[in-house]
Amino acid sequence: MARVVGLGPDALRRSNLSTVLRLLHGEGRATRAELTALTGLNRSTVAALVRELNDHGLVTEGDAVATGAPGRPSPMVSVRTDRVAVLAVDIKVDSIAVATMTLGGTRLGQQRVRRDRHDTTVDATLDVLEELARDSLDALPRRQRLIGIGIAVAGLVRHPDGMVDLGPNLGWSQVPIGELLKARLRRRVPVTVGNDGDTGALAERVHGAGRGVEHLIYLSGEVGVGGGIISSGRPLTGSMGYAGEVGHVTIDADGDRCGCGNTGCWELLIGERAVLRATGRLGDGGQDALTEMLLAAGDGEPEARRGLAEIGRWTGIGLASLVNLFDPQRIVLGGLHAELHPFLVDAATSELRSRSLVATRSGAEIVPAAFGIDSSLVGAGEAALQPLLDDPTGTSAPAPSMPAHALG
Ligand SMILES: [Zn+2]
Repeated sequence: MARVVGLGPDALRRSNLSTVLRLLHGEGRATRAELTALTGLNRSTVAALVRELNDHGLVTEGDAVATGAPGRPSPMVSVRTDRVAVLAVDIKVDSIAVATMTLGGTRLGQQRVRRDRHDTTVDATLDVLEELARDSLDALPRRQRLIGIGIAVAGLVRHPDGMVDLGPNLGWSQVPIGELLKARLRRRVPVTVGNDGDTGALAERVHGAGRGVEHLIYLSGEVGVGGGIISSGRPLTGSMGYAGEVGHVTIDADGDRCGCGNTGCWELLIGERAVLRATGRLGDGGQDALTEMLLAAGDGEPEARRGLAEIGRWTGIGLASLVNLFDPQRIVLGGLHAELHPFLVDAATSELRSRSLVATRSGAEIVPAAFGIDSSLVGAGEAALQPLLDDPTGTSAPAPSMPAHALG
């Protein structure tokens, strides 16, 4: 399955190197026998590919271990976490996070700082980012080479140049955030910019709750509601990169006015303000009110529980349309909705099953994200690693925005 028909010997070798490194990146480690079985390549080819990845400092080969299967013990191959790194950046309305990340999805250092949601200007964001990024990069060991920067933003990100066309809840319009950050940091490495829903879906698919799943819907709430859709193992981007704006699907045509200009968007029914109002809190209470409400819900407060069941119902109503359209194997709730998951999953599932003929047949489950609030951060790092995973020993030019072929 790793063989690509019509490639010359060199292109074939590079494609196979990419396949092997991607497998190890997703798994962390595997025996050479397992790699042989998973790739369908022969044993001597796999041995040569592992040797080449080893020569490039990307993997290490340990002692032979018994595999439990018939045959000789096989050497364990692991990704190296001490040679290359990317800088992952997550720009949300309420917080900013930075981490350095390496192969296997290992995060070497991470900081998330909360901020005032009324002070999200581009300059204020860059000031915080610059300080956090310098801290993280200074902490990298000298031998660890920075190979890219990945940025996740709560907004519409244009393909292929990574321009943040619009960030309604950030108050941003036409912001080339990748170039601006690169200039601040004075680093000459490729920068990848992606929508936070798309990067969140990527992280969960490769390392989290969507591992091994080819068809996935990721839904994530913060102040707004966003998402990412993966179909047949590939992110759905649309013509401009804007696909997956699930928060602005119309659920109630006569509903309230949304920040996007539409009325009755899903975001208004399951976003933060709706959650706070439904649970008897003030809609503009923000993070502190949410934390208090979640604790109360955990203690069984009837008002909080009833409100979250209502949010679950609206979640299921919106999901029914998405499931009918995309027939996912799994639905992953991230960000705020990962925290709400235990309180809304029953209502959401029952609403979904009663409304979607596809959901009743596929049995697609609604699960919480493995990375919680950090899915989009991990996905930003993952997007920045793609050029290396695509061409482990080469220098092919990376794309400035999240590549459509980002998933292996
Ligand atoms: Zn809207």
